[in-house]
Amino acid sequence: TGKATQVKLVLLGESGVGKSSLVMRFVNREYIENREPTIGAAFLTQKCHLDDRSIKFEIWDTAGQERFHSLAPMYYRNAQAAIIVYDITKASTLDKAKSWAKELQRQANSGIVIALVGNKLDLAEGESEDDNSSTEDNERQVSEEDAQAYADEAGLLFKETSAKTSKNVDAIFTEIAKKIPSE
Ligand code: GDP
Ligand code: MG
Repeated sequence: TGKATQVKLVLLGESGVGKSSLVMRFVNREYIENREPTIGAAFLTQKCHLDDRSIKFEIWDTAGQERFHSLAPMYYRNAQAAIIVYDITKASTLDKAKSWAKELQRQANSGIVIALVGNKLDLAEGESEDDNSSTEDNERQVSEEDAQAYADEAGLLFKETSAKTSKNVDAIFTEIAKKIPSE
């Protein structure tokens, strides 16, 4: 037991990829369709309990950095962790995610734990193994293999998630927590 390790975590990624929805799912266990866009930045906290210790995430859900890129360093400075989100149904959002990864690896804390997250996995449901029927509901534009290969090469954690169904949302935060060095 003892005090939780506090970890500042920043979310980055193009507007509309689901950053706020992921945080709301992780912190409040809810998903609201067509939520109001984030103005400025939202700050939320949530604990993550590991076998041997607890991590308290202090989460900065940013907005505006999408248009006003110069604001971003204010949020990622001093961050020990970052989640870079793209939308698996929109290939251009992965390009943006890659440029965020490069920027963080150059400019952020040297020990920062970075996770790449491909969100909106529920929109690629048509590909599930027990569904051989049609893939017309599958809106996927980025393959899991390509994104995983990029993440491996760049040294990023990686998961595909759905804020809508909650798939892998807790899992990615737990993976990040495990990578945070103990105090
Ligand atoms: P942000 O701009 O990155 O913070 O994105 P938001 O969280 O505001 O989400 C943008 C839009 O995508 C909203 O209409 C959400 O309802 C939708 N969205 C977010 N996550 C998911 C998801 O996992 N699946 C689906 N189908 N839609 C999502
Ligand atoms: Mg938002």
